[in-house]
Amino acid sequence: MSTLFEELSRVKTFEYTEEDVREFEALHDEIRALKKERNAIIVAHNYYRPEILKIADFVGDSLELALMASKVKDSDVIDFCGVHFMAETAKIVNPSRTVLLPNLLAGCQLADSAPAEDLKARIEELRKDYPDLAVVSYVNTTAAVKALSDIICTSANAPKVVRSLPNKNILFVPDRNLANFVAQQVPEKNIIPWEGFCYVHQQITPQEIQRIREADPEIEILVHPECRPDVARLANAVLSTSGMVKYAKERSASRFLVVTECGLSDRLAMEVPEKQFLKGCKLCTFMKVTTLEDVRDSLRYMRYEIEVPEEIRLPAERALRRMFEVTA
Ligand code: SF4
Repeated sequence: MSTLFEELSRVKTFEYTEEDVREFEALHDEIRALKKERNAIIVAHNYYRPEILKIADFVGDSLELALMASKVKDSDVIDFCGVHFMAETAKIVNPSRTVLLPNLLAGCQLADSAPAEDLKARIEELRKDYPDLAVVSYVNTTAAVKALSDIICTSANAPKVVRSLPNKNILFVPDRNLANFVAQQVPEKNIIPWEGFCYVHQQITPQEIQRIREADPEIEILVHPECRPDVARLANAVLSTSGMVKYAKERSASRFLVVTECGLSDRLAMEVPEKQFLKGCKLCTFMKVTTLEDVRDSLRYMRYEIEVPEEIRLPAERALRRMFEVTA
């Protein structure tokens, strides 16, 4: 079995010394003790720092984390190592648990690109032309935006969610690249995109992917649907992060280019050491802002607790549960 130092040495985003890893091990011990004392569970998004993934009870993408959070019964506290909208989602689907976000700077530029007031105005305007309009919001939205939505989707299930609706006209919020991907997969619907994008995925250009493809024609290229359409066109497969993990583990290929936030290729490098994961990725500062010390302090001081007012939580929960039913 690999030691923590051996596992973290496979990561390419950070360079860890033996001393760093000794500090992580000491922090892991403190966190384990606090977890027990608080009766807490730690869940972490794929993009988080590797030393945090190693202490999490569960690691996954937005859909997996939302489902997981909805099922937590035996723990009083969900320590959510994700960004703000994800912790809100956990509180929406499991309001009787205490949900903590270890660092309040962990926001999301994509979620912020769709303020609830602007969405409300856009829905009113569009309903004049499209009386049957349905609002499908990506999980990367605030609780207030979810409350205005008919149904939520993630990158793992967006085409399926849209296909499940009887409505022809769909306002898809907030990611225009994911909206474009859905429009291609579900051509029978009229997808009206919100003009938001994720600054991390938007930075990736077709030229850099093409260069890698030309140097290594056998490599399998996995692209996240938040990437630009001209990048997605170069992919062997367009997948959510959970889809990429499954694909990379099951395929016989030995080299993959993982085109999303860098945390995922780091996770795969730790979990699948027999394969090679090249980085076609960019860093999300929101996902990397939280440290192991923040995780320890969140449990030590029970901070920062996420609250969602009932008048927002209830309609947001309805939209989320509708997604769970479609993808069950
Ligand atoms: S990667 Fe993009 S969508 Fe994800 S948290 Fe960062 S800014 Fe938001």
